[in-house]
Amino acid sequence: MTTPTEGQTTPHGTANHASGVGDPDPILFDMDGVILQGRRTDPEIYVAAADRAIAEFDVHPTPDQQAVLRSHRCDEVVASVCTALGIEYEAFWRHKERHASEIANERLRAGERALYDGASALDALAESRPLALVSNNRHQTVSFVAEYFGLDETFAVVRGRDPTPEGFHRRKPDPFYLEDALDALGVTTGVYVGDREKDLRAASRAGLEGVLVRREFNRDETPTTAPAAEISSLSDLLDLPLLGGR
Ligand SMILES: [Mg+2]
Repeated sequence: MTTPTEGQTTPHGTANHASGVGDPDPILFDMDGVILQGRRTDPEIYVAAADRAIAEFDVHPTPDQQAVLRSHRCDEVVASVCTALGIEYEAFWRHKERHASEIANERLRAGERALYDGASALDALAESRPLALVSNNRHQTVSFVAEYFGLDETFAVVRGRDPTPEGFHRRKPDPFYLEDALDALGVTTGVYVGDREKDLRAASRAGLEGVLVRREFNRDETPTTAPAAEISSLSDLLDLPLLGGR
């Protein structure tokens, strides 16, 4: 597993399989709602993470300021609250992100979220092509998920967002992290499997074919960016015509 951070990427492991003409296209996967049950980070995690960071900096925000710091946003409003409290915005954000990852990882260890059943197909898929995990979630949590669920050898590249304001603003639909993963894999084509409109948009911008996974929670959504294929389980990828299946 390669875990590039801050733009540092190193081709590794099965990544080299896709470097030649005719090799099977790599498959890149979104995490939340695609391999891991639960569509997003519980907002309560950001509340608790902000409170831990506030305690760490030993500042005393008003209730309104605390509400801003607790919300899942990273913008000039958060920056102005940090300035008013005499703390550095980027430092606050880094601490909040780290605490959010630690809390999320504690919850994962407690069994709060499991892999989808179809994730058992990942190892078989990885036998013929490189796989990557590319998520808007924090890199610290994405790499923990890969390791905790025994997928660190399955994914040639694992990429989540950097714990900086810039890293936050590079989330999908920005193709930044997908392009970073493609660089790490040493390829320019492939498939991205996601559960949201922004996954399909990011895939298109990165030059990838978007595959939409239909779950109960997105059953009635109609993305404006058409996917190249729709699946209802990751195991459907094993014989998807788009990937050269039957
Ligand atoms: Mg998702």
